[in-house]
Amino acid sequence: MVQLATRLSQADSPPTEPDSALVGGSNSAFPLPLEGCIQRGAGSRVWDEDGREYLDFLLASGPLILGHAHPRVTEAVARQLADGSAFHAINRPALDLAERVVAVPGCVEMVRFASTGTEATLHALRLARAHTRRDKALIFSGAYHGSHDTSLIGLRGARAQRGGVPRSSFQDTVVARFNDIDSVEAAFAEHGDSLAAVLIEPQQRGRDPLPEFLPRLAELCRESGAVLIFDEVLTGFRLAYGGAQEYYGLEPDIVCYGKILGGGFPLSAVGGRAEIMRLADPARSRKSRYVHISGTLSGNPISAAAGLATLAELEAPGVYARLHELGKRLRSGLRVQFMTHGVQGSVIGSGPVAAVHFEDRDGPGSGDDLRSAVNAELIRRGVLAQLHTRFYVSLVHTEVEIDTAVEAFGEALAAATKGAATNGASRAG
Ligand code: PMP
Repeated sequence: MVQLATRLSQADSPPTEPDSALVGGSNSAFPLPLEGCIQRGAGSRVWDEDGREYLDFLLASGPLILGHAHPRVTEAVARQLADGSAFHAINRPALDLAERVVAVPGCVEMVRFASTGTEATLHALRLARAHTRRDKALIFSGAYHGSHDTSLIGLRGARAQRGGVPRSSFQDTVVARFNDIDSVEAAFAEHGDSLAAVLIEPQQRGRDPLPEFLPRLAELCRESGAVLIFDEVLTGFRLAYGGAQEYYGLEPDIVCYGKILGGGFPLSAVGGRAEIMRLADPARSRKSRYVHISGTLSGNPISAAAGLATLAELEAPGVYARLHELGKRLRSGLRVQFMTHGVQGSVIGSGPVAAVHFEDRDGPGSGDDLRSAVNAELIRRGVLAQLHTRFYVSLVHTEVEIDTAVEAFGEALAAATKGAATNGASRAG
């Protein structure tokens, strides 16, 4: 058995000498301080190999909006699995899912599937570049579009270069600030003629766009000829069935989906106006503007079957009202805990997500240190959530479970701030 590198006792200082075959004991950039491997999930719960039970607000980093092992998804996957797991060739579940995605009101007239959100945003940028015959992409600082170079420039800024992103990628990337239309106008004034695309998370890391932000952005794109790409990997089928397009009432040129679309299996999609999407038609492969989009397991029938089963559940009446209600309950509960415990922080998000922010504070440790410490305390209390990203809420969470998580968050705040105060006192001494 592979030992996880992170031990609870070391929770708030990740090991520098991993004792695992898996680098950092994880496959994520945000490993959680767990005591052992997660072995099983059902509904809103997961269990580790030693039988520890967790109330799960990680939900596999977002795809499991129906919870773990939902019977309809499991059934659909089992049926397909018996008939084969991958063909590369066109298959019925993939074709049906493509039709479902095209039926979502908005800009998507045609789609292509891939396996990850990273690929979807990468393919979207490539389509935009071929369509406009331009190179530059405008992105927003702090946004995340996956682990490709352009995305990491937005996420990590200049630090990305030391982490293996070539200098040349910076030349084609323009960075503006989310909700700061002046910074966007300045970027268009300087680079408008060479911008192929604007790639944006319409709700960036839980922050809603200001009312005029997206419409003005769309206008600037129209005027300059840049392609507007909504990265809906997170918001798609979550904020509303029609994602951010429906929720904010605005159509881009291209949309990227992932997470929920595959129902917990690897699947993503890039879709958009037919005029742009047709550039990826292999029948055009001898043409100069042909866009190569392909992947061995892209649109595999298992993921597509899981996606179809998931979307069918999400189409039921009242689903989104319920998800929004639960998300709101969680956010207001978390806010109360910040106030009750006198910790400076804020809670943002809309729909079934909640992101917590810890203000930088006086005394020992930064807001980030405190966040890690609270995260460890929360997990110790049996609530699984990644506070460096967000809480995800599913349809199977109950009000009681939301309240349990909120209470545990309050206790975690109390324990972590007490710990910090004690450390501070001993350090100062
Ligand atoms: N875009 C957004 C908005 C995301 O939140 C993520 C993943 N969290 C990605 C893209 C990348 O998706 P993946 O991890 O599947 O590559």
